[in-house]
Amino acid sequence: MRPFAYQRATDPAAAAQTLAAAATGNDPLTEASAQPLAGGTTLIDLMKLDVMRPVRLVDINPLTSSWSAVGLDGGNLRLGALARMADVAANSEIQRNYPVIADSLKLAASPQLRNMATLGGNVMQRTRCSYFRDVSYDNCNKRNPGSGCAAMDGFNRTHAVLGTSEQCIATYPGDFAQALIALDASVDITGSAGARQIAFANLHKAPGATPQIETILAPGDLISGFTITGRWPRSVYLKARDRQSYEFALSSAAVALDILDGIVRDARVALGGVATVPWRAPEVEALLRGQRLDDALAQRAAEAAFADARGRKHNGFKIGLGRRVLARALNQAATMEV
Ligand SMILES: Cc1cc2nc3c(=O)[nH]c(=O)nc-3n(C[C@H](O)[C@H](O)[C@H](O)COP(=O)(O)OP(=O)(O)OC[C@H]3O[C@@H](n4cnc5c(N)ncnc54)[C@H](O)[C@@H]3O)c2cc1C
Ligand code: SF4
Repeated sequence: MRPFAYQRATDPAAAAQTLAAAATGNDPLTEASAQPLAGGTTLIDLMKLDVMRPVRLVDINPLTSSWSAVGLDGGNLRLGALARMADVAANSEIQRNYPVIADSLKLAASPQLRNMATLGGNVMQRTRCSYFRDVSYDNCNKRNPGSGCAAMDGFNRTHAVLGTSEQCIATYPGDFAQALIALDASVDITGSAGARQIAFANLHKAPGATPQIETILAPGDLISGFTITGRWPRSVYLKARDRQSYEFALSSAAVALDILDGIVRDARVALGGVATVPWRAPEVEALLRGQRLDDALAQRAAEAAFADARGRKHNGFKIGLGRRVLARALNQAATMEV
């Protein structure tokens, strides 16, 4: 592991300024730069693997008192970026009114990791593409822009079938982000130029020609929290994976429905494990609105969600699996007691 400077944040503005000032590389994620340190459960791994090489870590845990609160504020749910995954998953208000959030967190990683890992770090985690994580492979456009992509013709069983480009087919690995997408969350950002709020759906960037740029965050930008409007008791997170614990999604679906007298008034649908970014499925939402959600409609919706999917040598199975997971999540959400 390379040497790095360690510094504890004193306040958000100073932390943002230190981070911005230290970012010297063209690629803010991998070149000589500063990184915020939250739970450290994935950043430290990537540093040990020599995939990320920050020269300075700014530990943001001292900001916990202001950035870890979780609770209802008027009609909105507010989730602090430094709240631990385990605490949020165990919160009874969230289990009752936002089950899609509680389940997306409970089904992620392991109990030990969830005790340490934060919500902000979770949404910022990087792909588990094995070629990205192994620096003995030179050809990874995300880690080494312009070098090619070892996964295209390599072992690509876990890779994406939606939102891919000719430069990168890496899957976005997290679970919680899909719940945020399905609930139309916004994300609060503190930067050296001040604070702003954007739609969470606009945080991550599809790989396109620049897979090394994964989010719209500029050096120095810190996520302080997330806001969700309204309550969504009729919401579900379903995850299919190779084993029932401690494993990333091969396919997942986050569904939030508003149903009155059997008719869908509003529908929000996001897919995970199958796309390069947390993936919203607006075509599915349009199909469902104003309809009675039965099994036949759920099947049609699942077909629509993967109409543009593109499989490769080893990951074509994700298209059928993704359809089944989504259809089941829709049926489950439609029939749950609220
Ligand atoms: C074996 C294993 C299995 C896992 N399985 C799953 C799984 O099934 N599902 C799942 O969703 N996740 C899974 N994870 C990932 C895990 O959830 C993440 O490691 C964790 O959520 C990261 O949170 P952290 O606070 O530890 O982040 P850190 O490691 O501290 O940071 C991660 C990244 O986010 C940046 N960052 C942190 N906080 C902020 C902030 N507030 N603003 C801006 N940038 C920030 C850091 O600079 C760093 O680049 C797994 C991890 C491991 C090691
Ligand atoms: S899929 Fe993306 S992350 Fe994986 S090797 Fe190709 S360019 Fe790198």
